[in-house]
Amino acid sequence: MALDPGETRPQNEGMTEKFTGSFTQQEPIPDDAIAAAVDVLRHGRLHRYNVAPTELSETALLEQEFAAQTGAKYCLAVASGGYALATALRAIGVQPGDPVLTNAFTLAPVPGAIASVGARPVFVGVNEALTIDLDDLAAKLGQARVLMLSHMRGHLCDMDRLMQMCDAAGVTVIEDCAHTMGAAWRGQKSGRQGAVGCYSCQTYKHVNSGEGGLLVTDDAELAARATILSGSYMLYERHLAAPAPEVFERVKYTTPNVSGRMDNLRAAILRPQLRDLERQVARWNERYREIEAGLAGTPGLRTVERPAEETYVGSSIQFLLLDWSPEDIAEVIRRCAARGVELKWFGGAEPSGFTSRYDSWRYVEAERMPDSDRILAGILDMRVPLTFSLDDCRLIARIIRAEVGAVYQS
Ligand SMILES: *Cc1c(COP(=O)(O)O)cnc(C)c1O
Repeated sequence: MALDPGETRPQNEGMTEKFTGSFTQQEPIPDDAIAAAVDVLRHGRLHRYNVAPTELSETALLEQEFAAQTGAKYCLAVASGGYALATALRAIGVQPGDPVLTNAFTLAPVPGAIASVGARPVFVGVNEALTIDLDDLAAKLGQARVLMLSHMRGHLCDMDRLMQMCDAAGVTVIEDCAHTMGAAWRGQKSGRQGAVGCYSCQTYKHVNSGEGGLLVTDDAELAARATILSGSYMLYERHLAAPAPEVFERVKYTTPNVSGRMDNLRAAILRPQLRDLERQVARWNERYREIEAGLAGTPGLRTVERPAEETYVGSSIQFLLLDWSPEDIAEVIRRCAARGVELKWFGGAEPSGFTSRYDSWRYVEAERMPDSDRILAGILDMRVPLTFSLDDCRLIARIIRAEVGAVYQS
């Protein structure tokens, strides 16, 4: 039944609706990507440096295409997004024991990448826009020379102000773009404001090769070190988006090999998907806006405002039940789950599935951040896979609206 704007659906009708789709089901790999993958399987040259005479590998072509797509000088394809982040830290020269600033609101692979090089995460708070708290960052900038900035759940902070602050303080920015592949800040692709941008091609991100990562930069020495780190065996001349051989000459004896290459099978699957990224972003955003509109004005619930400078990718949606009791939030989650709507909660006391909090990473000594704790305690998060129809999105929003309303009124 179509409703007029402002009209609310009768409670009992809403209560009978149930969503039966899956929050973790991706779309199939597109036919052109399957065909490209089968070609690689048929010739058998899966290793990126295993090429026939005059052949350009799928991996090298992927790097060339992604560099062009993001406007970067250099691109390196690797085994995962987490590997790209750790490689960026190593290529910048982060040493064991070094402090590295990062977001308190992010996912486990981000502090994990910092820990993997023996460095020490220093958490920076989160605000109601779900972005890094720039005042907290200002207070902590003097403590480190690197910031690993996670664009968590696709929310971009004021990147102009952040870059001014970091440039002035001499802090190098590595961007974690696991949730912003295809996003932009004032028209410039996400991952291109900082010194390095790192992306994930894992199944739950914006392109799907099962596992995989991409790293982009304009810094030639950094790109050369990252390439050697990834395990190039001095075959860097087979890259198409790498710096000139003389740059490699300067770093090749002092850069260790920490193997984590991309292979031609994954690259073959990714190239057609990247060509289609813009269309997919538009489809995600249609779904996001449908859910956002359905949630708008729900008493007790806050949607997240998006800055005008941001081009986002609505592959997930967040809302805040700010200052609600944990019991009431748990009740909303339970009621929504009973109607087929899977909400994730960053305020849960224990890490569960992919949700965890800065205080769940107990290998890090972190001071408490009460302002951030208040935000984290109210963040609810939901995936928006492209297998959802727009009708599904409207239904999901109606269910959340009804259940939040029911608990809020009680
Ligand atoms: C997925 C993810 C990563 C790491 O990507 P993998 O490819 O899984 O290693 C990094 N940061 C965030 C925020 C992520 O969600």
